Amino acid sequence: MPLDRTEVPIRPVGTGQAQSASSETAREINRDIVLEAIRSRQPVARVDLTRLTGLQPSTVSAIVDQLVQENWIVEGGTAKRARGRRPTLLSMNGDLLTLAVDIHPERAVLAVVDLNGRFLAQHSITIPADVERATAEIISSLKHLRGQFDSHSFEGIGVSIPGRVDPATQQLMVAPNLGWAPFDLHSEIRTALGLTVQIENDCNACLVAELWSGRLTGVRDAVLVAVAEGVGTAILTNGQMVLGHRGLAGEFGHVTLQPTGPACNCGRRGCWEVFASSRAALRHYAESSPERSATSMNRLLSLAATDDPAAVEALQHQAQGIGRGLRMVISALAPEIVLFAGELTGAWQHVEPVLRRELSMPPHSGYQPQLLVTRDPGNARLRGAAALVLQRHSRFHASTQRVSHRQPAVLPVWHQAKTPLVLQS
Ligand SMILES: [Zn+2]
Repeated sequence: MPLDRTEVPIRPVGTGQAQSASSETAREINRDIVLEAIRSRQPVARVDLTRLTGLQPSTVSAIVDQLVQENWIVEGGTAKRARGRRPTLLSMNGDLLTLAVDIHPERAVLAVVDLNGRFLAQHSITIPADVERATAEIISSLKHLRGQFDSHSFEGIGVSIPGRVDPATQQLMVAPNLGWAPFDLHSEIRTALGLTVQIENDCNACLVAELWSGRLTGVRDAVLVAVAEGVGTAILTNGQMVLGHRGLAGEFGHVTLQPTGPACNCGRRGCWEVFASSRAALRHYAESSPERSATSMNRLLSLAATDDPAAVEALQHQAQGIGRGLRMVISALAPEIVLFAGELTGAWQHVEPVLRRELSMPPHSGYQPQLLVTRDPGNARLRGAAALVLQRHSRFHASTQRVSHRQPAVLPVWHQAKTPLVLQS
């Protein structure tokens, strides 16, 4: 499919100053600013939004009316004022919910999440290796979860998946750790539940959640590394999330570090992820302690928590593997921050020193990005799945929806400055 370059009209913008953009972009950003002000200050008086956002009263009023109409915010109660009319208060609509699905090989975690990002219900299921049967299980569980909240409305379903997803078609492009045959997961779930569905790579979903939560406000260059059965990355460069052609960017996990290394699920040998994923730690533990067993990462982490030397060494071995590949990522992208998601963050005290040591070697001796763990790391992917729906009013979402038949090279600038836009004349 040929790229339509005209679909990337947004120029990089600076922060802390009036910015120029198309009128459509400006509307989206201003809506995002108003929603963010309500979300962070709720309950907030309508009249105070003008001061909080720096937008014109008429602009705020139009956006608030639209958000009320869309059921995203509700009016209720009045604020106390020393004199004058008591203003109406606005809050996020707690009755509007989303369904979130985080897919792993052989299991999926599902949740009901409200517009404030609160988890109202959550449970895990095992799923068959076959994609059609796995999808049927997921759909059945989603219907069951929705049934528990039948007095509520649902905005949509967010799905995070260990693979790369074409943002235009929502089709899975690659997913070596799932080994699924081609299948229209998006249409199946959408048709069965009758809700909009947003599928995204698990790492990208985690990064959206961090952006949505405001964790990366002011940061323009970051990399998120999700470590589980595989290793994936999500990229924020110059304030833009990079998806690449057909959503395929970020597959550093399958760059070869050692051509004679262990076999990888992608069919090659010695990829970064065979040295850095949870399978690397479990393999190392099995080799160093053949008389003992740790069949899951949770078991290995429990052993490390009791200072089991072999378990700690296995995690440090994995951390070394992560560091080796991360040097390549850092060389390519020079992020200010590297965020980590996944089970391994549960043993961060054992992992971080090894990573720092790996990254202190030349040529990175004089520069090290901040190494941080994602918020709520155990649920980061699930939170990311919810964020795919929750950030409906962000330009991340707007861009992927608007160009449903086209292919953006990069997502537009994520608005971080929280300053109003000036329309291009
Ligand atoms: Zn590979």
